[in-house]
Parts: sequence; structure tokens; C-alpha cells
Amino acid sequence: MNDVETGTTVNRRDFLKEITAATAVGAGAAIMPKPSQAAITGQKTQLGMLIDLRRCIGCHACSVSCKAEFDVPLGATRALVEYVEKGDYPNVTRNFLPRLCNQCSQPACVDVCPTGATWKRKEDGVVVVDPDICIGCKYCLHAWPYDARFINLETGAADKCDFCQHRVSKGLEPSCVNACIGGARIFGDLNDPTSEISKKIATNPVTVLRPEQGTGPNVYYIAADYSDEHTAEANGRYVRVDTHRRHQERG
Ligand code: SF4
Ligand code: SF4
Ligand code: SF4
Repeated sequence: MNDVETGTTVNRRDFLKEITAATAVGAGAAIMPKPSQAAITGQKTQLGMLIDLRRCIGCHACSVSCKAEFDVPLGATRALVEYVEKGDYPNVTRNFLPRLCNQCSQPACVDVCPTGATWKRKEDGVVVVDPDICIGCKYCLHAWPYDARFINLETGAADKCDFCQHRVSKGLEPSCVNACIGGARIFGDLNDPTSEISKKIATNPVTVLRPEQGTGPNVYYIAADYSDEHTAEANGRYVRVDTHRRHQERG
């Protein structure tokens, strides 16, 4: 789906052209997705993920495998799958929305951390947390727009998706990608034009969640238009999200 009217979709090939145009379209620029922003951040490698909602069957294999991989305590999650209803009767649709840390190019959570416990890695653009330095102040939980950090009650430190560094460093896929039976999750280097993820982004209309926050998210979606209630409401669209997290945890 390519919603030209609202400008919520763009392909990677046209990114530089879009950025140039954005300065001329005023408010429209605020809702444009921002691919890896390598030229802005100077990041040679930027790992990212593309989630194709046309292939997601809502099976939760990704969130379960992630919990098992990291022994995530009960009541917390690094990866979740929400249910999104949108539209007005009779034109109503329902889709699944897998979510995780967006490993942003301009991570707000890093900016607010008083101890330097969370940072963006130069080598691959992944935002990580050192639990030995983290003091559990929760500033980062409130600063970022993607609701995907939590305080791990067993360590007392902030916790979140790290794109499965321990697996990727050994040449394996992240656990959620490996477990996805729908083949909906594609992982790789956004700054390598020959990677599968770059090719998919170049040839499909994609969106990011909450582009108006300006954090440069590096998790892309196919067919997720207006799946986030904040972006939907800002554009006058109705959307209802069911989540297995407590509703008060949503930002
Ligand atoms: S909870 Fe930890 S990582 Fe988050 S801002 Fe505080 S010290 Fe930094
Ligand atoms: S990349 Fe790893 S840590 Fe991140 S959601 Fe997937 S399984 Fe969890
Ligand atoms: S494992 Fe794949 S198909 Fe299943 S819910 Fe997660 S993203 Fe969707």
C-alpha cells in the first residue's frame, strides 16, 4: 500500500529525494519514515529489521522464542505481538503488529541516560544496555516512543531487544527471525544495498512506527499503515490496539 496522500510510505531508493522534498512540504515531512540515516549518523553498518505484516499470522512464535532466548521474567517482554483494528464500519481491517526496540538512529533513550549505561554501538548501530552500569532510574523508559524497554526485576536494570547480539556475532539470525514461521521478519544491514532487507525496502512501500518522533527508527514494516494509534489519531484515523501488556504501560 502506498498512501501518497499522507506521505506515510516511501521506498529506500527515493529516500534522498524525499528528504530534499521534505523541507518544502512542511508538516508532511514530520510523518515521513526515515531510513537508516547513515549519511546523517556516519554509521557504516546499521542493522535493522523489516516486518511484512502480509505474512504475519499472529502466532507469537517470535515473542515466545525471544523470552526463551533471554529468560525474560514473567510479565515482561523484549518482543510482543499486538492486534490492531482500524477503519470505520463496514471498511474495517484487523492485523497483527509485532513490535520491538527500533534501534533508532537518533535514540532518545541514550540522550537521557545519566550514567552512560545505554548507548548506540558504532560497529552495527544497535542500542545496548550495560546492566552493571544501569541504576534502574527509568529515564530511558519514559524518553523513547516505542514502549519496548522494561526494568528487569531480576537484575534491576533496563532491558530490551539487542537484536540478539550473541547470535548475530556468530553468524546466526536473531531468535525471533529464526522462529518466524510466516517468514515475516527480515534482518540485515540497512546500509548494504545488496542485503536482502535493503532490496526489500527498495522495492516495497514501507512505513515506520511513530515517524513524527524524529528518532530515525530502523525497524520497517510492510502493510502497517496507521497501525500505531498515535500516528493514526494524528491523521484522523480510528485504530484500536489490543495488547497483552497492561494498557497503562503503553505510551
Ligand atoms: S534505567 Fe539504566 S539505562 Fe535507563 S536511563 Fe536509567 S541508568 Fe540509563
Ligand atoms: S532480535 Fe532477539 S532480542 Fe530482539 S526481539 Fe528478536 S529475539 Fe528478541
Ligand atoms: S513469529 Fe512471525 S508470523 Fe508469528 S507473530 Fe511473529 S512475526 Fe508474526
